[in-house]
Amino acid sequence: MSDLWRLLLLLLATATIGLLTGHTLAFVSIGLLIYIFWLRKRIEELRDCLRDRNPANEDAFTGVLYDILAEFDRVRRHHHDRDKKLLAQLKRFQIAAMAIPDAVVLLGKHGSIDWANHRAGEYLGIQWPRDDGQRISNLLRAPELSRLIQNPPSAQSDDRLEMALSHNRDRYLEFRVVPYGNDQRLLVARDVTEIRQTSNMRRDFIANASHELRTPLTVIAGYLESIENDEDTTPVSAWKQIIGKMRTHTLRMQRLIDDLLKLSSLESVRSGEHREEVAVSELLSSIFNEAKVLSGDEEHIFYLETDTRLWLKGDQQGLYSAFSNLVFNAVQYTPARGVIRIRWHENDRGACMEVIDSGEGIATEHIPRLTERFYRVDKGRSRDQGGTGLGLAIVKHALANHGATLEIDSQPGKGSRFSCQFTKARLVRKQAPDEASISA
Ligand code: ADP
Repeated sequence: MSDLWRLLLLLLATATIGLLTGHTLAFVSIGLLIYIFWLRKRIEELRDCLRDRNPANEDAFTGVLYDILAEFDRVRRHHHDRDKKLLAQLKRFQIAAMAIPDAVVLLGKHGSIDWANHRAGEYLGIQWPRDDGQRISNLLRAPELSRLIQNPPSAQSDDRLEMALSHNRDRYLEFRVVPYGNDQRLLVARDVTEIRQTSNMRRDFIANASHELRTPLTVIAGYLESIENDEDTTPVSAWKQIIGKMRTHTLRMQRLIDDLLKLSSLESVRSGEHREEVAVSELLSSIFNEAKVLSGDEEHIFYLETDTRLWLKGDQQGLYSAFSNLVFNAVQYTPARGVIRIRWHENDRGACMEVIDSGEGIATEHIPRLTERFYRVDKGRSRDQGGTGLGLAIVKHALANHGATLEIDSQPGKGSRFSCQFTKARLVRKQAPDEASISA
């Protein structure tokens, strides 16, 4: 029976008794009270039924209460289905994440382990769920890695760390940390042992071959020089020309071998290995003087603007290689009486060493490839000027060893700007007697 009919029947019955007894209002009120109490009891029964989910009681309800129960059941079934689907999805995701060939660790606040896949056990010794909630810094004692986890790179930058962990020195891992959600991090470790071995083999081969070539070349160059200079053995003019050419080419080969050796030695340096404090201003002023000599009678106009208080934590030799290559390139690729400006100054990202020239410039399509070994815009021109095609590759490696980057801006016919950008972490501020020095 519907609730409305039940109520109407009750009101009719109580009103009839009221009319017969002459107390209509009193009987109707009593009837309504009885209905309210009955309804309250039914609602309590409904609550108990919903709470216990006792299906035996479900048939005991009719009307609106039955509708409420049916609606509740529908919503509950919907949630149940959704939970099942989510659980299945989560399981699928976990199986997929477990199958990833790299180690994956999800880190919560303060670097606590939220989840890890099987590979994390093999590579990092992190076992899931045994290490749930443990701080990763307690399990992997590597300060560089802790630093990377605490200060992960921004989404734009691509900062990776390559190292072997103390428990397995033979396996080289490349670590990446990706921040996500609310102060959470995703740590991914990839095994790069084979890639590293191949690149080490290539580097060692080039270094060994260059070493082997160096000695015979020095001997040949020496003999050629003595033949050319020795009064007694001064060759006839036809030979003189040939010997002159042989000397030029031998010198070129020597320069090439020197650059190859420099490049392999820069490649074998681990980033952050050198931590001496380098007086960049002094280094630049000696390069500045060498550049003036190299310019010779080309009469380039040089400017040197340096902040003498700014020093760098790094490797003096590596920085010399990087800066001198950029400055000497500017001399080589800037016509006579062109302007060459060398700057060393602080900026919002750290500090920057710039070489700006008013030379021939470089077309945009060449710029991304300039730091590749042996890449030249004009091969013949570079060779004629004594270039090896390795200068900018040396610059790139020397800078990478200092966590620095090379930025190139250039416009054909207008000139070029090569900027070496160093991070704040590498800077050392010294008390300087004089402010920024400017020389010309
Ligand atoms: P190279 O020994 O040929 O100079 P680098 O690696 O130093 O080799 O430079 C690669 C190429 O980049 C050069 O061949 C030249 O074409 C171009 N280049 C480098 N510096 C400059 C510059 N300041 N102005 C114009 N072109 C440049």
